Amino acid sequence: MSKSFFIDTTLCTACRGCQVACKQWHDLPGEKTVNRGSYQNPADLSFQTYKLVRFNEKTINGKLHWLFFPDQCRHCIEAPCLETAGDPEAIFKDRATGAVIYTANTKKLDADEIIESCPYNIPRKAKDGTLAKCDMCLDRVQNGLDPACVKTCPAGAMHFGESSEMLALAKNRLGKVKKKFPKASILDSDLVQTIYLTAYDPEFYSKYAVASVRDKGIMAPGLLTRQQVLHKMLKPFIAAAKELV
Ligand code: SF4
Ligand code: SF4
Ligand code: SF4
Repeated sequence: MSKSFFIDTTLCTACRGCQVACKQWHDLPGEKTVNRGSYQNPADLSFQTYKLVRFNEKTINGKLHWLFFPDQCRHCIEAPCLETAGDPEAIFKDRATGAVIYTANTKKLDADEIIESCPYNIPRKAKDGTLAKCDMCLDRVQNGLDPACVKTCPAGAMHFGESSEMLALAKNRLGKVKKKFPKASILDSDLVQTIYLTAYDPEFYSKYAVASVRDKGIMAPGLLTRQQVLHKMLKPFIAAAKELV
């Protein structure tokens, strides 16, 4: 039975408690930032920031809206990063939860190729090429605890549990918010284990909110681009050729 997140952005107040809790649990340092005229801080995900609350200002039907998107790894059901790596010692899927986990062996991978493969623009690399991202707080989950970000959310925007229950919760909530937000939707729920509910067009929240808005032509539902499919097919031949050299 896999585990999933349900993140209801209609309830998110952008308190950033989840962002701080993630850093605290993983003992990750803060980052030096500058005032960029936005509350979004730091500017982006990084090797040391696995969770980032994105702030967007959008004018919809003549009214200004402030839209918040707590961004993190989607723990894809068929993860393109894992497929691209092809090395279970570097990137593997935890059997019990379905969490996609990166190890220190990601240093041996082609970091840019892995980053490029992610339709949600999530993995980030250190100077030495090691990759990092959200690990579903697997150590907490394996001990019966909620992920740190879920545990800390004071607004009830973040949920975690059995995937089927999270999907049912998301659908139920969608039914309720549709009256107020006719364009509300749940994002890529057949592809991922981090399910978002947005009130407006997902593109208003992030260029990478859904796989299909990415400009590289994602082939849902397998999430692999043509380039990735080709790479997957050719990989054994490339490896054999390397051995011959
Ligand atoms: Fe991998 Fe990106 Fe999917 Fe996370 S969101 S599992 S990094 S492909
Ligand atoms: Fe961070 Fe854990 Fe939440 Fe992932 S699940 S964003 S690692 S706190
Ligand atoms: Fe939003 Fe909850 Fe994160 Fe606060 S802790 S930013 S309300 S998801």
